Amino acid sequence: METGSYHDVRYIRLNNTPNHASLHAQLRAMEGAEAALVTASGMAAISTALLSVLSSGDHLLVQNGLYGGTHDFIAGDLPKFGITSTSIDATDPSSWEAHLRPNTRAIYVETMTNPLLQLADYEAVAEFSRRKGLVSLIDNTLATPINFRPIERGFDLSLHSCSKYLNGHSDIVAGAVLGREEWVNRVKHRLDHLGGSLDPHACFLLSRGIKTLALRLRAQSQSALEIARFLEKHPAISRVNYPGLESHPQHAGPGSSSSALVEC
Ligand SMILES: *Cc1c(COP(=O)(O)O)cnc(C)c1O
Repeated sequence: METGSYHDVRYIRLNNTPNHASLHAQLRAMEGAEAALVTASGMAAISTALLSVLSSGDHLLVQNGLYGGTHDFIAGDLPKFGITSTSIDATDPSSWEAHLRPNTRAIYVETMTNPLLQLADYEAVAEFSRRKGLVSLIDNTLATPINFRPIERGFDLSLHSCSKYLNGHSDIVAGAVLGREEWVNRVKHRLDHLGGSLDPHACFLLSRGIKTLALRLRAQSQSALEIARFLEKHPAISRVNYPGLESHPQHAGPGSSSSALVEC
């Protein structure tokens, strides 16, 4: 009989079927990450990662204007576990230090916020986080690994909703956590207990979807820019939030890292 920990037992909720293993390898390769873990939804990835990084009494810095589900979880649910947060302007690194507290443990941003597509100074976030001993987390859903690879830019954990571009067929809900092995393992252990594991058949469907990601994203990016240009000139539209437009205030980038984000 095999000995080992609970987390090594062969059981579907413990995220270790062959379908999980091959999908994890696919995601690792795409984002240049040491380790990957798929989850039952994007929110399962986000909530489980935050509950793995933070404990009662900890404090978190978060970018303004995050995805609604994430904002509600951080502002509404985490305080019930004794975890508090402060919003920051992620484009202005000089303003962050003032918000640090002795119990600040992590910083959380999105690569283009959903829905307003606000950018962050990504390299400054990763550098600040390293310097201050924080854990840096980024939701990379809207960029996808094709347009931005946060791990290569120094982030500790990259999170995804795979329900959107990564799957591309609108027939599953799924998420992913990528990063250093040590961190992803911690998230896996928490996920094993919380139970937000991805069904193996959904793993297969996600793996299928990812095969066409590059082609789909190229077409979607071209369409999005055309639509944004059309809407920008339309008399009934007062404002278009799309960083690919030259008129967007952050078109040249939020800071020195402007070249980090490929037009998408
Ligand atoms: C959709 C989305 C999520 C949540 O993902 P689900 O798969 O619906 O749980 C999180 N972050 C961003 C940026 C999203 O667009």
